[in-house]
Amino acid sequence: MALTHQVAIVTGGSGGIGRAIALELARRGARVVINYSKSCRNAEKVAAEIVNSGGEAMIYQADVANSVEAAGLAKVAQQKYGSLDILINNAGITKDNLLLRMKEREWDQVLAVNLKGVFNCTQACLRPMLKQRSGRIISISSVVGLTGNAAQANYAAAKAGIIGFTKAIAKEVASRGITVNAVAPGFIATEMTASLSEKVQEHYKQSIPLGRPGSPVDVARLVAFLASPAAGYITGEVIRVDGGLAI
Ligand code: NAD
Repeated sequence: MALTHQVAIVTGGSGGIGRAIALELARRGARVVINYSKSCRNAEKVAAEIVNSGGEAMIYQADVANSVEAAGLAKVAQQKYGSLDILINNAGITKDNLLLRMKEREWDQVLAVNLKGVFNCTQACLRPMLKQRSGRIISISSVVGLTGNAAQANYAAAKAGIIGFTKAIAKEVASRGITVNAVAPGFIATEMTASLSEKVQEHYKQSIPLGRPGSPVDVARLVAFLASPAAGYITGEVIRVDGGLAI
């Protein structure tokens, strides 16, 4: 499962699941471009953690919803490290509301970051991968994209959209040695879930058959596996990492 000399981009890599993915890929030998939108200091901390453990990392600011900035992200990885092997589409936001109360702005923002961001980054990274006839694209969807969730029509639509996108692109690029997969986390302890009310958090915890919230590392290990040569025959797949939440 080594990723020695592989070059990986992790979008939204400055905290939560993205941080854990960046650290896990680096631990296995990948050189990591940590993308962030606002939290430069946190991104620097993740990069420093990698470098202090003997790995290679750089940070790059880009809003994934902006196609020009996403293209810049792909370009800088190639300029700095000479290739681009792994893209992890992790950046995501929530703007929860019941549909009748949902503002157009809340719909647009969630779709722009969570789904268009995946399109922007995948399109930007695909060209070099097609040329080198190898690559790994892994997008972080959600169990909510499979099951739906009240007050998250925007988020569920974006995360379900990632699944359709993953399957379509997997078919488009399979003949060029590129695999495209999605990971669907359940309830993972990060800032995103910490912002939910105590009551909602408790409800989730009670609904998880394995009896605990997931940790970012639980997700990162699966992502690292999918990025590795060991997962070379897996494409167009959606794998839940949810302690059984969506069974
Ligand atoms: P988080 O809020 O800690 O991390 C999200 C990251 O995305 C942040 O670093 C944020 O700065 C970044 N980001 C936001 N907008 C961006 C933009 N426009 N451009 C670049 N980066 C941007 O949340 P998390 O829980 O670590 O979530 C990571 C991913 O996992 C998200 O896609 C989320 O939807 C998904 N997910 C999380 C859970 C969970 O329970 N935490 C469950 C299922 C799926």
